[in-house]
Amino acid sequence: MSKREFQTEVNQLLQLIVHSLYSHPEIFLRELISNSSDALDKLRHLTLVDDAYKSLPFTPRIDLELDEEKKTLTIADTGIGMNQEDLISHLGTIARSGTKTFLAQLSGDAKRDSNLIGQFGVGFYSSFMVADRVEVVSRKAAEDQAWRWVSDGQTGFDIEPAERSVAGTTVLLHFNEEGKQYANSWRLQEIVKKYSNHIAFPIFLTYDKSEWNEAEKKSVKSRTTEQVNAASALWRRPKSELKDEDYKDLYKSVAGDWEDPLFWFHTKAEGSLEYTTLFYVPAKAPLDLYQSEYKVGVKLYVKRVFIMDDAKELLPQYLRFVRGIIDSEDLPLNVSREILQQNRILTSIRTASVKKILSELKHIAAAQPDQYLKFITEYNRPLKEGLYGDFANRETLLDLIRFKSTKVEGLTSLADAKGRMNERQKSIYYITGGAESLLRTSPLLEIYKKKDLEVLILDDDIDEIVFSAIDKYGDIDLKAINKTSTSEDIKDESEPDKAETLKPLLDKLKAILGDRVKDVRASVRLADSPSCIVSDEEEPSIKMQQMMRAMGQKDIPALKPTLEINPDHEIVRKLLARPDDAVAQDAAWLLLDQALLMEGVPLQDPAIFVQRLNRMLTLSI
Ligand code: ADP
Repeated sequence: MSKREFQTEVNQLLQLIVHSLYSHPEIFLRELISNSSDALDKLRHLTLVDDAYKSLPFTPRIDLELDEEKKTLTIADTGIGMNQEDLISHLGTIARSGTKTFLAQLSGDAKRDSNLIGQFGVGFYSSFMVADRVEVVSRKAAEDQAWRWVSDGQTGFDIEPAERSVAGTTVLLHFNEEGKQYANSWRLQEIVKKYSNHIAFPIFLTYDKSEWNEAEKKSVKSRTTEQVNAASALWRRPKSELKDEDYKDLYKSVAGDWEDPLFWFHTKAEGSLEYTTLFYVPAKAPLDLYQSEYKVGVKLYVKRVFIMDDAKELLPQYLRFVRGIIDSEDLPLNVSREILQQNRILTSIRTASVKKILSELKHIAAAQPDQYLKFITEYNRPLKEGLYGDFANRETLLDLIRFKSTKVEGLTSLADAKGRMNERQKSIYYITGGAESLLRTSPLLEIYKKKDLEVLILDDDIDEIVFSAIDKYGDIDLKAINKTSTSEDIKDESEPDKAETLKPLLDKLKAILGDRVKDVRASVRLADSPSCIVSDEEEPSIKMQQMMRAMGQKDIPALKPTLEINPDHEIVRKLLARPDDAVAQDAAWLLLDQALLMEGVPLQDPAIFVQRLNRMLTLSI
């Protein structure tokens, strides 16, 4: 037997792992099973492509054997195995240059260092968290000699020839104080199910099972071997092998939903980054969709090993209704949450995943309009949130979102609205600021109806915030019709400018209303109503200001609306003809109050409003 020293870096790493690294030592099992799974993958690959290996027997399996008395556990696989040289270089040095650089950066500050280490795999060495002696017996595939590697994780390791009947690796752990809790079959099954359920190879556990013996009237122990994982990383199988039922079954177990999903998108990326994603859209929006503490629906796996299911950084927040799996080949197994936030690999996967989901949805919108309608009825609103934050995908999102409209029943897309524009029309119009019924009866719509121009009805509470930041759809302007500026499309060049004739009345009204309005102007947008209010281009609408106050924003300046009056309306014409001040007083306030009412703004003083109304009624009856 020959005693060998660990490379200095290995010593450093071991110190770190044992002393400061993990609050969950249970991950040792995940790491060792993952190594076995890699070794099986490697051998399978060789038996497929390399003639020298083709004739070798390949019965892939991972065996855990527990000895509760002796407090030992073995993890054995029938994978590629290691020869003497491999054992020395893989389990005695750190070959990966990244880890070396990392170790050089260590500060000695345990907390900082353990954050740093999450970026690198610790793998095999994590067994020294739970064991004070680790023995590895390995025989490399296509070789006859097996080797035993033994270490206490402190003073280096010994290596000697050994026996092993088939190729593969057996890791024997002698649990230390910390590790004794894992000399328990329940605990082991639980850990395997949690992290390694979807490892593609079967994992068996051999242990002493207690069973009630009726004849002897006592429970007796018998040595039992059971498969403990589901061994079904379905998402790693080629699409062609999977049936709809397979996808639906997996969805139900991943999402905990009874219903079938609406769609799924299964992608395998190869190239500079390797990963598989399987995303599902639930048929019904998750109940916590609008709660700030929503549950994350996408689980992160690394090489089929479960890593976490609560990482909000896997997809942007607006896609929080998506369920499924991201399985990366490139992330380290012990990647921590802190690291995910700034990890370049994850950022690339996330960017590509968002693009993929949105482009698939766009495809469905075109190819299966009925299915898409089901989708958009549930998820229109979160997609709008995306418009607010996801600049890179704004164009696609604008194409995916649907709108109510004055021209069509149900929902319409911007593309369709664009298709319906007449040849003189310059913009696509929309109205925001209240419930659908209120918007549909707004006086602001009158001129658009008269001129046969379509107006989109944006009645979601976030619409005004979202769309005030978006002024184009492709090369077409998007215009809110409740803003002071009026578009070319509704101005009538043939009509004489009525502002001149109306000026004395406008001045009088402005004097009466004083501070309550910013301006009183002749309107070009009204047909049947005598008045309406509009807001400045840059300012939130009156309704929006109300909402912001209701949400607790105290410092909203009281922005004044502009009152527009309809020069062609009978009330206005009569007022102009009648210089009677008392009537003008009441009329001015009633014109403002009714315009505000139509915007859904409650009266400031209902009693005074009623007095004025009654004085006018008396005059007319
Ligand atoms: P990682 O798995 O991240 O490479 P480890 O420290 O866990 O790091 O393992 C180091 C190397 O030892 C692996 O890359 C592999 O080559 C070898 N190895 C570990 N376990 C096994 C095993 N069960 N069978 C074959 N080779 C193994």
